[in-house]
Amino acid sequence: MSGRLQGKIAVITGAGQSAGETIGNGRAMAVLFAREGAQVLCVDRRLESAAETVAMIAAEGGSAAAFQADVSRDAECAALVAEGKSRWGRIDILVNNVGIGGSGDGPAHRADEAAWDRIMAVNLKSAWMTIKHAVPVMREQGGGSIVNISSLASLAGGNQVAYEVSKAGVNRLTTSVANANAAYGVRCNAVLPGLMDTPMAVSGIAGATGSTTEAVREARNARVPLRGRMGTGWDTAHAALFLASDEANFITGVLLPVDGGMSARVG
Ligand code: NAD
Repeated sequence: MSGRLQGKIAVITGAGQSAGETIGNGRAMAVLFAREGAQVLCVDRRLESAAETVAMIAAEGGSAAAFQADVSRDAECAALVAEGKSRWGRIDILVNNVGIGGSGDGPAHRADEAAWDRIMAVNLKSAWMTIKHAVPVMREQGGGSIVNISSLASLAGGNQVAYEVSKAGVNRLTTSVANANAAYGVRCNAVLPGLMDTPMAVSGIAGATGSTTEAVREARNARVPLRGRMGTGWDTAHAALFLASDEANFITGVLLPVDGGMSARVG
């Protein structure tokens, strides 16, 4: 451990992961933050998946606990913040990592209403609600760092209107919260992952399209300018680690693409 988060208390939502071969963004962040000395509350709707992350952290000698919450429900967002605060006395870092896409989303003329409502609640409203409950704790203790996991799809794309608009909302939530809390030492930034080799993306798309994971991986790799290869959950985690740490002490309201150059390429 090199201690970049030594003594910090971190709450990470979606710290379990979807089934698949590689590591997800949430799990990678939880493991990396613990390696850097944080105590991590691993929150997930699926307790068993959060518990797997905790077991990985414990096996490396780190400190973490699992907590079950559905972040689309306000009472459960209040409960997860209360759990972090009562367990360790403060919350230095909040990472809003939960995000879903899925069936029923599509281009605007095809997406269905139920999918729109579900995706907005899980991707956008949830991040606002955890922030709503965590900000008073952070203000009272004199500071904190919030990292929202958005997506490059917040800036470009046209095939998943609910997902894209929810993530654009996460970007604006980030800058709004950064502005409103700067005077209190509470920073708020976002990471915008591009094409990542995570279970949710690769195995999820393979399952939904009837394709193989190898074919999905190859097609996604081919679209990435930097080395022709997707990023991984660890790339998201390293960017989030920087933003969460005191190294980013003068950085707030930033939307950081972690995308192998995709956002730099037009055409
Ligand atoms: P993941 O699916 O592996 O993990 C997300 C976790 O969130 C799962 O364990 C799931 O059980 C949990 N979850 C889902 N709904 C929940 C709810 N309502 N309450 C609590 N927990 C819930 O995904 P991941 O790889 O960790 O990615 C997470 C984030 O990264 C998402 O916000 C996603 O939009 C974003 N992202 C991913 C990619 C990519 O290519 N993988 C690209 C851009 C952005």
